[in-house]
Parts: sequence; C-alpha cells; structure tokens
Amino acid sequence: MVRDHGGSESERVGGTAAWAPSHLPPRGVELSPAQELACAVRHLDIVGFSENMTGHVSWQQPGNDTLLVNPWGFWWREATGSSILEVDLDGAVVSGDWDVTPAIHIHTELHRRRPDARVVVHSHPMNAAVLAAVPELPEIVHQNSSILSDEMVLVDDYDGEVDTPLAGGALADAIGDRSVALLVSHGVIVTAPTMQEAVYKSVLFERTCEMHWRLRAFGQKATPIAPVFQNQLKASLIERAADVYWDGAIRQLVATEPDVLD
Ligand SMILES: [Zn+2]
Repeated sequence: MVRDHGGSESERVGGTAAWAPSHLPPRGVELSPAQELACAVRHLDIVGFSENMTGHVSWQQPGNDTLLVNPWGFWWREATGSSILEVDLDGAVVSGDWDVTPAIHIHTELHRRRPDARVVVHSHPMNAAVLAAVPELPEIVHQNSSILSDEMVLVDDYDGEVDTPLAGGALADAIGDRSVALLVSHGVIVTAPTMQEAVYKSVLFERTCEMHWRLRAFGQKATPIAPVFQNQLKASLIERAADVYWDGAIRQLVATEPDVLD
C-alpha cells in the first residue's frame, strides 16, 4: 500500500534538512583523541563487533601526518587511552609503549588514498564473518540498514594475510570508494570521515549481517526498502543519529568502565 505523505518522494530528504534537534543530552566528559579511540574500541567489543584482540581502529585527524591506533596484543575490552599508539603512514611507531599490528597496512593505505577515510575500523565480528564465508553482502531490509545504501562492496578474492604496503594497497584499490568492505574468508572494513559515523556504521553493519542470515535460516523472503526511502534514512542516520549514538555510548562506557580513560 502506498500512503499519501503530503509531498513528492524527491522532497523526502531526511537528515537535518527535515528536522534538527534543539536539546541534546551532553556527552558529559572531555576526551583526548586517544581516549575517544579507546572508547570506540571498547564499545565495539561490548556490542559484539570484535574477535578478542584481532583487528584495529585507526584515526588520522585532519592536518596530521600520523594516525592513532590501538596496539597489538591487548584485547579490545582492555583498551585504555594511554595504550593507544601514534604511527606514521609507513606503519612505524612514533610514540607509545607497544607494538603495532603488522596488519597496519590495511589502515595506512586507506588513509593514504581516501580523504574521506579519516577513521578505519577493521575486525572479524561473527555475523559479518558468517556472510564473509559465503561470501554474500547483506540486503537492506530494515530502515536502519539504510546507512549502508550504496556503501558496501564484496572483496571476494582472498589473498592471505595483509601485512605489507603492497597488499594493503591492493586491498584499498579493490575497495575503491566504498565505505564498507566485506572481505571473503576474513572480516570487514568500515571507513568514515568521523569517529561517530565509523562506530555507528560498524554497529549497524554487524546487525544487518545478523538479520540477513537469520532471515535466510528462517526461510523467509525479505522485503527490500525502496531506494528513495533508503536515501532519506541514510541522511537521517548519519546527520542526526550517529553523534547522539556515540555520545550515549561514551556516557554509559565511562560510567561503567571508567578505566577506559586511564
Ligand atoms: Zn583481519
């Protein structure tokens, strides 16, 4: 059934053009970039976007030649502000107490090529790993999955461990201009201009993957969302949900696990 919504579909733009909040709950704490990155790593672990200590989150802030990244060896749930490393675009540690992952080139080559990829999230969350094993991208059958509309790419050529600039560059080239890459037999990469968008998109991708295989297991045919509504929801999710989600995640994390700021 098509309902009369009082305007043409092209007018349904969503985002802050349609509505903007005026009274937002505050984040409640001032964070350094390293503390914010540690919060991202821990939060993603709490919501299931992780596989113990594998994968990393990197953040190259505007104007910086270096990037921040969580170190090799700590589980994501152990992330703290003081454990975060600063590394250069060749993957060498500039400051910090620990080793950097040899898979840092997954991150450096995306940061190098993509001005929009200021944050790069990589891990092997279970539901994405299930679809990576098929391999198959999830369908957009829930409105919050619209943040992934025209963003996903399946990299279906498995080439072993990505531990050199050459391998990282080839992977970045295969990803192209997409912001969510499902890597066959491996995991997922999410890129975004900001930390809040990177975290929110990662969470929604893992949820979308779970919904996809559950619907398949249930034997049901999924109902896709029309492209015009995907575009509307995508704008709203990025422009007026990602920041609210992230501030709320930080409030709850700092309240329950304050050592993340150490
Ligand atoms: Zn990996």
